[in-house]
Amino acid sequence: MKIIIGYKYDKETIEKKRAYIFNELIKASVNIKTGIIKDISISDLKILFELYDSIFLSNWFKDTFKGSFKFSLSKRMTKSAGLTLCPKNINVLNPENIVIEFRIGVNFFFQYDLIDRTKIVCGIETNNGLEALQLVLEHEICHAIEYLYFYKSSCRGDRFKTIANNLFGHTNSYHQLPTNKELAMKKFDLSIGDKISFIFKGKKLKGIIYRINKRATIMVQDKNGQYVDKQGDRYVKYYVDLNRIVK
Ligand SMILES: [Zn+2]
Repeated sequence: MKIIIGYKYDKETIEKKRAYIFNELIKASVNIKTGIIKDISISDLKILFELYDSIFLSNWFKDTFKGSFKFSLSKRMTKSAGLTLCPKNINVLNPENIVIEFRIGVNFFFQYDLIDRTKIVCGIETNNGLEALQLVLEHEICHAIEYLYFYKSSCRGDRFKTIANNLFGHTNSYHQLPTNKELAMKKFDLSIGDKISFIFKGKKLKGIIYRINKRATIMVQDKNGQYVDKQGDRYVKYYVDLNRIVK
């Protein structure tokens, strides 16, 4: 049996292999014709995965994994750009019955160019949506390897970090791709700490933006409020739609 766990590539080799895969995917895909991702299908993920298996892993998955892979695209992922789903009882399953699913949060790649700043994924600077997708899939591949060897996987653990660094040169386990939250903040020009106002039950209230998710959390000074700051001022918390906020 081939042993993948000891593979270690130097930076130059990794960059060459990654660039080769980038070009091969563009050749093979009907949706992705440049680094900019406007459309993507499950078969693109499958092609990309198979390229990785062949170019980085000497077909380790293909030759040794008896189970199957599933690929999925999600528009609902807002924090993670990728997920690897593996049955919890993988250690007792027949190898043929193991299904490992790679799920990709497509919005991160469609929205890649909407914000102009450096976008680092797994510690590596990316130039376009396809490069970002490659790094996210590399991360998920490390999860799959860890699951198959050890039946458990966590990208916070040292073992995972070593695998990801040896194979792909990753130096951390997170991405800095534009999130819905960042895009909303940009669209409405809002930041944490902004002094703003909004209308609540016909009354104009003034407050400070404390948090932004789908809606903003606004703290409004109120002597009967249950939240107290360091100065002893009291606040009431409101959840307000971003489009109702006036700076
Ligand atoms: Zn992870």
